[in-house]
Amino acid sequence: NAEAASVIAGSVNSNVRLAGAPMPLCFTRGKGAHLWDIDGNRFLDYALGMGPTILGHAPEAVNAAVADSLAQGQLFAGQHPAELDLAKALVRHIPSAQLTRVGMTGSEMVQAALRVSRAFTGKPKFIKFEGQYHGWYDNVLVSHAPRVAEPGEALPPRREPKIESKGQTEVARAEMIVLPWNDIAALEQVIAEEGGQIAAILTEPAMCNTGAIPPAPGYLERMRELATAENIVLIFDEVITGFRLGLGGGQERFGVTPDLSTFAKAMAGGYPVAALVGRADIMEMFATSGVNHSGTYNSNVQSIVAAVATLAALEDGTALARAEATGEALMEGLRGLARETGTPLRVEGWGTAFSTFFAPADHVVTDYQSFKAADGDMLQRFLSELVHRGVRPTNRGTWFVSSAHDEEDVAETLEVAREALTAL
Ligand code: PMP
Repeated sequence: NAEAASVIAGSVNSNVRLAGAPMPLCFTRGKGAHLWDIDGNRFLDYALGMGPTILGHAPEAVNAAVADSLAQGQLFAGQHPAELDLAKALVRHIPSAQLTRVGMTGSEMVQAALRVSRAFTGKPKFIKFEGQYHGWYDNVLVSHAPRVAEPGEALPPRREPKIESKGQTEVARAEMIVLPWNDIAALEQVIAEEGGQIAAILTEPAMCNTGAIPPAPGYLERMRELATAENIVLIFDEVITGFRLGLGGGQERFGVTPDLSTFAKAMAGGYPVAALVGRADIMEMFATSGVNHSGTYNSNVQSIVAAVATLAALEDGTALARAEATGEALMEGLRGLARETGTPLRVEGWGTAFSTFFAPADHVVTDYQSFKAADGDMLQRFLSELVHRGVRPTNRGTWFVSSAHDEEDVAETLEVAREALTAL
């Protein structure tokens, strides 16, 4: 760790930090559901690089396709027919996809979505929601409001965004409106007051960066209606939900079609590739109105063939169904352990992406503030007990399950979780 700190700014990536974990967790090999660290310790992995490896680590079909393409050399944007195959697969699977653009990261596709929304509507601002993460660019790097309401105090629905990172520009405050999620009244009020200034509503269809929180009944539908009525572009950020909650993403699962949506992570089984897809009349702005989305490595052939191979592996639905069933068995098992051990462990979400937190059974989680009200110290101790025993969820208590996880992994995980809960 000291050696890393002497040459790597900030030392190691925070995604592997975990309270009480052996530091740093330095992995040298992954296969299927497992990772091995530099000392040869085996971990059952439920972080999956924050979601990408939907087929497990080192998926053979994807790696073979990439190896094959490497032999053909480094080819770049617009130079390889596989880009067409990928675009067709995206259009086939994703309800909102009429036209597509491919890039490298989720962060970058969110920026493209905002840019094209402004060009299309001629309006400057956008709405986002507390506790949602849309990448590390200045203008979206705000995930929560600075203040929690006192008991009995009604906070105004519009929250003053908190600049989260030193060096960010103040531009963020001017462009962005941050609202609590799942709050229809707050959304209606802001759109009534400022709809004429708002280019886009940017949301995950289900919150997956703070817990795993579903949309309240009717919430996405109302969002859709308001956006249509006010000429606001509805953007679903499906960077996590995409190809996890369904081959057609959260939009397919919840039956609400956005105007634009962003995909990355699971789309290429672990390789860096991302997509912006959406309505033809909006996406055409890239061709007709000079909206820029260039980039030396966008559509590079290795990323593209990795995505084509991953989507082909997911195409018939069995891999995703297997991951979901395995994850549901794990969720049920964890709930059973909570009852058995009398710990207030809550397990919520979906088989392929779920959240563990500690709160009384009647504590309802609908947004960032209610999620934050859970017992964070207990969660960190639980995660630490797990990781010391070789089971590794994300450092926020979210668990991602791949099609490579199986019944044996579930049984082993539940045994470890029983010990961890008992140790608490
Ligand atoms: N949107 C969401 C919903 C995400 O979860 C993430 C990454 N955690 C991003 C955007 C940014 O994607 P990337 O890390 O590929 O830039």
